[in-house]
Amino acid sequence: MRYLTILGATGSIGKNTLNVVDQFPDLFSVKALTARNNIDLLAEQIKRFSPELAVVYSEKDVCRLKGLLAPDNHTDIMSGKDGYRAAAVHQDVDTVVSAIVGAAGLLPTLSAIAAGKHIALANKETLVMAGDIVMSQAKLRNISILPVDSEHSAIFQCLAGNRKQDLKKILLTASGGPFRNLPAHQFKSITPEKALAHPTWDMGEKISIDSATMMNKGLEVIEAKHLFDVSHQKIEVVIHPQSIIHSMVSYIDGTVIAQLGTPDMKGAIAYALSCPKRLPLNQPLPDFSGIGALTFEPPDMKKFPCLGLAFFACEAGGTLPCVLNAANEEAVDAFLNKHIGFIQIPEVIDHAMGKHNVVTAPEIDEILLADQWARKTAGKWIDRFREKGGV
Ligand code: NAD
Ligand code: MG
Repeated sequence: MRYLTILGATGSIGKNTLNVVDQFPDLFSVKALTARNNIDLLAEQIKRFSPELAVVYSEKDVCRLKGLLAPDNHTDIMSGKDGYRAAAVHQDVDTVVSAIVGAAGLLPTLSAIAAGKHIALANKETLVMAGDIVMSQAKLRNISILPVDSEHSAIFQCLAGNRKQDLKKILLTASGGPFRNLPAHQFKSITPEKALAHPTWDMGEKISIDSATMMNKGLEVIEAKHLFDVSHQKIEVVIHPQSIIHSMVSYIDGTVIAQLGTPDMKGAIAYALSCPKRLPLNQPLPDFSGIGALTFEPPDMKKFPCLGLAFFACEAGGTLPCVLNAANEEAVDAFLNKHIGFIQIPEVIDHAMGKHNVVTAPEIDEILLADQWARKTAGKWIDRFREKGGV
């Protein structure tokens, strides 16, 4: 039996994780659930899985959640940072599913590692911000960080049974997002509604925008560098619009190993929770005859400058990936609120990165300071843009 905390239980990954848990009640037991949004859904999840602890963002939501539960409900309810930390280090838990979106996932994940919990990692921002610290802490405590991100789950599976010194390249596949075929001059007219409509994956809002700008792939390059301990030079991005190949690894003898499946996160989630065992998920196989062809093309770095910014930050290291991430979060938020346009997203990030004095080998406090600095710097740029007339 695995005893789980799910950080970010009401999100896209959280819901898929609970779906897997629900199918295998003899294998998994939920001890703690956390959420920020969708308190109604959290209440339903508590009724279904009876965790010992549930955590919401604010005191106001504690009252709301209690109002949705029966008076004799036994789940403890907490709120805020202390609550998220308590869920991450819960004494009855052995594995923490890290599925909060954005920088807010970092500290609870670090707390879980410090408490010796195994991590099923969806929150890629954790590794983008503090990959060196996270991986060295995990190594120190001999705990596993298993990827939930589909590409990294694929790479993890393609690396199994092979020697690291025989690795030639990691080929990180990307769908190309909804604007792969849109001419650059039409990018000005991209609205949040259009950007949220991803062609192959059903995901939360922030990662959907990241996929549309291709920042998601950039963040995944940095995630792969840390998870698999390789230089950015060994990571290549390949556009594969059908999202059937989830990523590939090539070796020095010219062999390429790929992992394939339908685009559904339940496979990667289940593997992170049960590997090396595979669970009978009843997932449909890809309909190869129906799909006809699997195609590949290089990414268009001019149309999608976020990818280049991420490669630059990946190479520079230190606090620069954290600044990239924080500025991106601010820019995505401003875009979703229609304060800036789609093409301003990379401009905001470029501005913050250009102004930043990189700290090499930063401690966690320096990372958190860089995050705050980048948010302020990006915020000022966004405010000036709005004052000049906005979108
Ligand atoms: P989502 O927006 O659907 O869900 C996020 C969850 O985190 C929700 O439960 C929300 O209430 C909670 N949350 C949001 N802000 C919070 C805060 N400040 N403090 C505490 N909790 C907060 O996001 P998602 O699509 O499930 O993505 C979660 C993470 O997984 C992201 O890092 C994303 O990059 C990664 N990921 C997602 C997918 C996918 O298919 N959705 C695939 C690969 C990786
Ligand atoms: Mg991914």
